[in-house]
Amino acid sequence: MIDHPINLYLVPTPIGNLKDITLRALEILKSADVILAEDTRTSGILLKHLEISRPLQSYHIFNEHKAVQKLVDRMKKGEVFALISDAGTPAISDPGFLLVREVLAAGLDVQCLPGPTAFVPALINSGLPNDRFIFEGFLPHKKGRKTRIESLLEETRTMIFYESTHRLMKTLEQFSESFGPDRQACVSRELTKIHEENVRGTLSELVEYYQTHPTKGEIVLVLAGKNPKA
Ligand code: SAM
Repeated sequence: MIDHPINLYLVPTPIGNLKDITLRALEILKSADVILAEDTRTSGILLKHLEISRPLQSYHIFNEHKAVQKLVDRMKKGEVFALISDAGTPAISDPGFLLVREVLAAGLDVQCLPGPTAFVPALINSGLPNDRFIFEGFLPHKKGRKTRIESLLEETRTMIFYESTHRLMKTLEQFSESFGPDRQACVSRELTKIHEENVRGTLSELVEYYQTHPTKGEIVLVLAGKNPKA
């Protein structure tokens, strides 16, 4: 039995390989009063596979503002919640931040379990300096995109971006224009899955590669900083 001083757990779930669930994640998911899930159908399949049967409630970007206060009130009455997202660590480019902030503001406590997240293996696999790095998540699609890229031109730390495959070429081309074609980068695709692929090279090499290798799946783009020192 777990003695719960914590009101909200953030529980990372696999980003592909189901064996990446941790023993602690299983323990918390089995003992939470309610599991909050970004997509109850997606998480329902995972939980069934893990043989976990707990009440599921949806919590996503479209209902979080409305849901958060009610959830905090329930936590105050003693209910323990576990938050999961579709994949990886909740609150990393996923819903979670708002709930964490409000739970803490109410004097309750939060614990995020360590576990799967896409940006860490992508950073390490890139072979680029990882002693200092910045996580940029998704770039804005239209408004603010250019300004964001321009704000990174002098960045010396390794930069990490989440990207969708259909925008990859556009991003690589924009990066090549802005950061220069010789800047080193790495595209990590389908991490932990059967078709995992890490393609390393200069931005111009990557543009050339993806022109002839149209690609599917999930992607993390890692970009060297300006004049990185090993
Ligand atoms: N919470 C997740 C995490 O901890 O990494 C991120 C969720 S975000 C909505 C989804 C993005 O994460 C994808 O578009 C992709 O950029 C990245 N991602 C997730 N799984 C991945 C995988 N297996 N391989 C490469 N990138 C992945």
